[in-house]
Amino acid sequence: MAVTDWAGERIVVTGAAGFIGSHVSEALLAGGAAVVGFDNFDGFYAASVKRRNVAAVQRAAERAGGRFELVEGDVCDAAAFDAAVRGATGVVHLAAKAGVRPSIADPSGYARANVLGTSVVLERSAGAGAGRVVCASSSSVYGNNAKVPFSEDDGVEAPISPYAATKRACELLGHTHHHLHGTPVSMLRFFTVFGPRQRPDLAISLFLRRVAAGEAITMFGDGTTSRDYTYIGDIVAGVLAAYQRTPAYGYRIWNLGSDRPTTLRDLIGVIGRVVGVEPRIERGPMQAGDVARTWADVSRSGSELGYRAETGLEEGIGRQWGWWRAEGG
Ligand code: NAD
Repeated sequence: MAVTDWAGERIVVTGAAGFIGSHVSEALLAGGAAVVGFDNFDGFYAASVKRRNVAAVQRAAERAGGRFELVEGDVCDAAAFDAAVRGATGVVHLAAKAGVRPSIADPSGYARANVLGTSVVLERSAGAGAGRVVCASSSSVYGNNAKVPFSEDDGVEAPISPYAATKRACELLGHTHHHLHGTPVSMLRFFTVFGPRQRPDLAISLFLRRVAAGEAITMFGDGTTSRDYTYIGDIVAGVLAAYQRTPAYGYRIWNLGSDRPTTLRDLIGVIGRVVGVEPRIERGPMQAGDVARTWADVSRSGSELGYRAETGLEEGIGRQWGWWRAEGG
């Protein structure tokens, strides 16, 4: 069933204090839905940054005259999640330990938060009668596949980081859950998301800060690795469309990318132009777990969700830079 009246929706957004979750929450509130944010303020980056994100969501709720409630808890804690999901019409599950490189140092922590956490979310959402679950997966599941662009029907049996393996495991859990219980479930393979509130560990965020401060940035490898960078506004539109369309498919995987891969060297050039400072580059070795390239085939999400990436890299980085300066850096 497509949602024709968001005002009738009460949607749990896990990871609502994070980068993507805070934007998705704002968009749902603007549409008229009531939102219950669920987050444990995981220590991956500063809780103060996440509190600022939540404050922005609260302001968005006030502007929309909507209802936003924050429940603090861990997705692995079924009782805590039950308290949030009671009476929910649907769930957007974005909470996770994110990031490829840190997952190599903490595979079991990633498995717990991502695999056990997703299992709890699926199980308890169904128990509470929530009508659909939309989950964050990742482009990292494609590993170092040679065929590009990556399409949803490609084989994904060779992830190269614990993070990627947990995301693939979540996709399989979602399939099984739908098969056994009938709950509509979708898995969204996000391709490197950027824009205001981007996670501080991600390259664009890191490079903007370093270049602005006149510090050198480290280019891992020879600069030819590439990523399909996707602007947050486009991702949010894709998440909302997926929420609408998931019941029509039962179980479905959708790529949400831009279909415009950019090399690391070109990205650094864009950063320099946006900040107006020539970046100083130091070379480092390729990092374990990092894939050589990502590139999204968005034909399925285009035809089934009406998804299209509208915002280009330089325009989007310009907005991220403007936001960062407005926040006082
Ligand atoms: P983020 O770290 O900003 O947000 C994740 C949020 O989940 C955080 O606020 C964190 O506190 C919360 N969280 C972590 N573990 C939790 C737990 N056990 N219980 C409750 N809350 C918990 O990351 P993001 O970039 O906004 O990513 C959101 C989702 O999208 C994640 O699932 C991530 O794996 C996925 N993803 C992100 C990108 C990207 O480029 N940002 C790309 C692919 C996939």
